[in-house]
This record gives sequence, C-alpha cells and structure tokens, in this order.
Amino acid sequence: MSASTLFIGGTWTGASDGGTRDIHCPADGELVGTVAEGTADDAARAVLAARAAFDAGEWSGKSPLERGSFLLKVADRLRDRKNDFARAETLDTGKRLVESEIDIDDIANCFEYFGKLAGQESGRLVDAGSPMVVSRIEYEPVGVCSLIAPWNYPLLQAAWKIAPALAAGCSFVLKPSELTPHTSILMMDVLQELGLPDGVANLVLGDGKTVGAVLSSHPDVDLVSFTGGLETGKVIAASAAASVKKVALELGGKNPNIVFADADFDAALDNALNAAFVHSGQVCSAGARLIVEESIAEKFVDELVRRAGQIRLGGPFDPDAETGPLISAAHRDKVTAYVDKGVAEGARLRCGGAWGTGDLEKGFYYLPTVLDQVTSGMSVLVDEAFGPVVTVETFTSEAEAVKLGNDTHYGLAGAVWSQDAGKSQRVARALRHGTIWINDFHPYLPQAEWGGFGQSGVGRELGPTGLAEYQEAKHVYQNIDPQVTGWFADHAAA
Ligand code: NAD
Repeated sequence: MSASTLFIGGTWTGASDGGTRDIHCPADGELVGTVAEGTADDAARAVLAARAAFDAGEWSGKSPLERGSFLLKVADRLRDRKNDFARAETLDTGKRLVESEIDIDDIANCFEYFGKLAGQESGRLVDAGSPMVVSRIEYEPVGVCSLIAPWNYPLLQAAWKIAPALAAGCSFVLKPSELTPHTSILMMDVLQELGLPDGVANLVLGDGKTVGAVLSSHPDVDLVSFTGGLETGKVIAASAAASVKKVALELGGKNPNIVFADADFDAALDNALNAAFVHSGQVCSAGARLIVEESIAEKFVDELVRRAGQIRLGGPFDPDAETGPLISAAHRDKVTAYVDKGVAEGARLRCGGAWGTGDLEKGFYYLPTVLDQVTSGMSVLVDEAFGPVVTVETFTSEAEAVKLGNDTHYGLAGAVWSQDAGKSQRVARALRHGTIWINDFHPYLPQAEWGGFGQSGVGRELGPTGLAEYQEAKHVYQNIDPQVTGWFADHAAA
C-alpha cells in the first residue's frame, strides 16, 4: 500500500505505480518516513488538475483582497503549527531545530508580506492623452505554475514561490526536493484545511528527472519557477523553451565576503564564520570566498582557522551543536572531491578537509574547512562547494577587491566590511551581485527582492518584483467615443 502523500486535485493519493521512497535523517540515518515517489503520469495529472482549477476561476477570479486575507490566515496557521513544521524540517535536513524554527518564522512572515501586498494590488490607470480614452493596466495571474524547490531550505524556498503565486491568483504544482518532502506535505495540509479550492495547490513528490522534467515541459504549464543548481537550471530553461514558458531561476552563488583592514575586526571575523559555516555552508548565499586586505590577512585568517576548528558539529536536538551534517552521502562525497581537487591544484588546507568522527560517523558530517593560497582560475574559486568550505584571497587596493569580488560567473550575493561608509558604498555599487551586505552577512527581507546577476539566475523572488513574476500585465484600452478614422476610403461609395 503506497503512502498517500501526493496531493492532486484536492485529493491525497499514492503514486500511480505504488512507488515509495524512504526518507532518512542525514544526522544519524534514522528513518524519518516513507512517502510516495510520484511518476511522470502523476506529474501530468497534477498539471491538468492545476489547469482545471485555474480555468474554473474559483481562486483566480477572487479579488486580490480576498486572496490576501487567505494568505494572512496561512501565516497564522504556520505560527500555530510552528513546532510540527520545524521538527519535520529538521528531521529531513538534519539542521538544528533552532534553525528550522527561524525558517518557519521567516516562512510565516513571507506569507504575511504577500498577503498584505496582495491586498494593496490594483490596476493602474494610464493617461492616454485623450479624455475619450480609458486606458488601464490590469495585473492578471500568469496561470499554471510549476514550483521546483531544493533541499537546503525546503519549505522556505517553496514559500517564496507559493505565497506570491497564490497572491497573484495562480494555481500550481509544487515539487520539493526528493530528499526533503515532509514540510511540503504539511503545507498542503494547511492549504486544504483553510479551504483553498481543490486543484489550486498540488504536490507531486519524486525525482527531478521524471517528475521535474514533466513539470518543466508540460504544455499546460505557463511558468516554471526553479531554485537549485546551475546545471539543473540550464536543463529546465531549455525544456521550458519548447513551449516558451516564463522561467524564473534562482541558482547558485560564489559569494565574496570582502574585509577591509579598517573593518571592525571582531564583528567581521564572527560574521565570516557565520557566512561560511551556517547550515554547514549549504546556503546559496554562503560567504564561501573570503577576500581580505593583505595588511590584516595573516591575523584574520589565523583567527578564522582557530575559531573554525572549534565549531561544534552535532545532531538537530543536540543542545551543544552549532551546525549539522551535509544532506546526503552523495553530497558529502561531492564536497570531499571539491576540497581534494583544490588541494591537488595547490590550495593549502588550513583546517578541516575531513569527515566527522566518533558519534558523528552515523551522519554525513564534514569539518569546517579553510583553504588559503588559492589563485584565480582554481576550481575551488570557480565551482560552488555548497559545504563548509571557505577559500581565502588577499588584496591591496579597493580596485583589486572589486575585481576579485566580480571574478565569478555567478552573481548572487556578497558583503563588504569597512568602517569607511563612502568606500563601502562605492564597493557595494561596483559589485555585480543581486544582494550586497555592508557590515553584515546573510539577512534578507521578504519585502526586498532576492535573486542573481549573471549565472545566478533569471528574475527575482520576494518584494514587489517577486509578485510580478506571477502576473501578466494586460493593457485594456477603451475608446468611449469611437470615430470613423477614414484611413481606408470607401472607394465604391465615392
Ligand atoms: P538541484 O538542482 O539538484 O535540485 C533542485 C530541484 O530540482 C530538486 O527538486 C530536484 O529534484 C529538481 N530537479 C533535478 N533535476 C531536474 C530536472 N532535470 N528537471 C526538473 N527538476 C529537476 O539542487 P539542490 O542540490 O537540491 O540544491 C542545491 C542548489 O540550489 C545549490 O546550487 C544552491 O546554490 C541552489 N540554491 C539557490 C538558491 C537561490 O536563492 N539562488 C537558494 C537555495 C539553493
């Protein structure tokens, strides 16, 4: 008997072929649950359910204010059920419970933000230059959306898509990472409980190459919003191109953390640790490239190495743990190969570079790692580690700091540390990344756009632009005093 964890057309169902997948906690390998492993047929069925719901208009035809007040109820419900959600997220990802709790707060805030924004939505009158013309821009839902999410912040990344999609009046099919399905299941439960019309929200669990491929190519899908790796993003963009779908891509980053000699040393150091090692570096905006001014580099890096070596690894419920495991054995192998290749290319391993031992051997732990003596073009400076690894580069001038900070095909995020406000602003403006922090690292706001320059992506999530991604602008031009134009003469009448 298959686990009934797919949600299609308002009904909980198992996979069409009865397939299931066991989910294990990356911290200790314990079985967390068994869920349905959806098939290509299930994905296609979910798209058709979303299409039927969209066309029926029960949700897409509601006023923005009504949709907004529904989202506010979702935010409340998430806050009520915070413990269930946080526990489920932690068991799937292995991250510390406190981190999942922060994620659930952020998710509720995201629904609240888009709920309020939807309530303010209205069309826009355009001055056509004639009192006899009423010209208006209406914002309509884009239609059926495929929402494909990664495993590092499973429900948070999905919420950045679900909330604006619903606010705009779209219907959707969500596919979380096959490794982290449980909070998406809980989310559907909340949407159903609060009375979202059947078929507006659908959930298909399963593998990217089967389920995800249908969601990015199906002719009834109008938009694909994807968060994940660069290579997957390219495949999805190509597959969506055949039917000219709108595509939003949130991809990886190779994010510079630039520390000038005049920075607050202690704050910069503490935040350099956070930037690189929070969630064991499995963060798209991780500050994985420390770029530090040469005059303080030795002292700064020595301290970084000393502090990195003290970071306590442990399971989600270990009160002493400061960070957790990597998501899977395969991912740990990838991080291991990345570091080994860097060392083979000439980088110096200052700390880490090994798996967790003792009790940690039950999970996929990798020690916080610092690599210095890296030079432009080395694979560790080009590729995303997506693990607890930071590389160190040095500079002697502001121009050189900017040049290094922009020396990447990605462009997601970066930081500048300096007590010189003018210099910080100049560098922030010169960096080609979607978010720049000055004297901080990692904070984001639901009301501020998030996304990448370069190969970090296409489009923006969050903020008003994050809602606009799910809208079509339609111009309605009404001539209230129609006239004969005489452009084509009635020659027979002459
Ligand atoms: P991934 O690309 O392997 O998978 C992401 C999702 O895509 C999963 O649901 C997966 O099943 C699905 N998928 C895989 N192949 C597919 C295909 N051919 N067609 C359709 N869907 C497919 O990424 P991941 O390993 O889950 O996540 C890590 C990556 O995500 C990192 O590169 C990270 O930088 C990026 N990320 C970016 C942001 C951002 O905001 N820019 C946020 C979080 C993560």
